[in-house]
Amino acid sequence: MSQNNKGFVPLTISEFDTLTNLLSKLLSTQESPVIIPGEAILGIEAIAAGIAAPNRTILNIVTGPYGTIFGNWLARGGAEVIELKTSFDEVVTVDEVAAAIERYNPCALSFVQAEVVTGGSNPTREILDLARRSNIITVLDSVSAIGGEPVLMDEWGIDFVAVGAQKALSGPNGISAVGISPRGWEFLASNENAPRNSILSLLDLKRPHDSATPLRVPPNIPVLEARALIEALKLIEEEGLEAVNRRHRLTTSAAIAGITALGLEPWQRNKDSYSTLTTTVRIPQGGHFNIEQPIGIVAPGDGELHHKLLRINHFGAKANQQSVEEAILTLAELMHQDPDHALAVQRSIWGNKDGK
Ligand SMILES: *Cc1c(COP(=O)(O)O)cnc(C)c1O
Repeated sequence: MSQNNKGFVPLTISEFDTLTNLLSKLLSTQESPVIIPGEAILGIEAIAAGIAAPNRTILNIVTGPYGTIFGNWLARGGAEVIELKTSFDEVVTVDEVAAAIERYNPCALSFVQAEVVTGGSNPTREILDLARRSNIITVLDSVSAIGGEPVLMDEWGIDFVAVGAQKALSGPNGISAVGISPRGWEFLASNENAPRNSILSLLDLKRPHDSATPLRVPPNIPVLEARALIEALKLIEEEGLEAVNRRHRLTTSAAIAGITALGLEPWQRNKDSYSTLTTTVRIPQGGHFNIEQPIGIVAPGDGELHHKLLRINHFGAKANQQSVEEAILTLAELMHQDPDHALAVQRSIWGNKDGK
């Protein structure tokens, strides 16, 4: 292998700073997000390990499978976990969260902002408003939300937010980030159970604010993935994060219009909670269009949702008109139905520039 293969030039401080700054902008925060040397799921596990302690009651809102996993990690750390779980065809309501806060007085609450598996999106701002009023630490899994909907860390008062680039941002999956507020850092530092000298230690990844400390690139950052993430985030900046959000909103509107025109129903019961990442299609009673393998971006439901829904994965580079048209053609074919009306209906959505 060539000695001057560029991939093996270590990450420079300037590249590290560029990446950190791009991530701060992505999350609309003044803080420097921690770069996680692995898939987003590692950052999520690190948050759970860092905040869980036997004397802490944490409200874990479960609207899809990732929420269940997060709750298990909190319990492993000894936390008292209060699970607020919905049927996966609905997201949580603000009233349900308010009642749980009232009843259990948790010190923290956690939830997934937008779900790819169920096609639901939680009332994030309202939940965060509630949490702020009760002075509760907030933990968001925004891995799939980022790029598909706004994630305004500072303005919304988010204490922990995990993001990855492999969903709506069309970036690499081998590196990710966690944004942490000053209050969040205190919450970690005050936990004697928080891991140190461990791949799960967020405290070990904290960037020193002390300017006397020489800045160095953390040695664990995967170099090729870091460079790929810089490229992906620059492309997002070029398009504009709001434009990327709008593209995802339009795509969902078009997909919903298309499947409805085919006579199908969204899996999510409330139209205010459609995720902008995926559209989930309820398989009708006696429906004959179960599939076992993905066909293009149309995929079978995961786990317990298999045979209950089909998922249209229209995120990232697939958040566009052509992908929606192909998905509608696939569904129409499975239903032995003429696609033309549904195609025309979805096409009419794309003139609406707001994606509302
Ligand atoms: C995709 C996803 C993750 C983690 O993804 P990995 O690809 O395993 O890093 C976590 N949470 C949510 C909500 C996701 O959609």
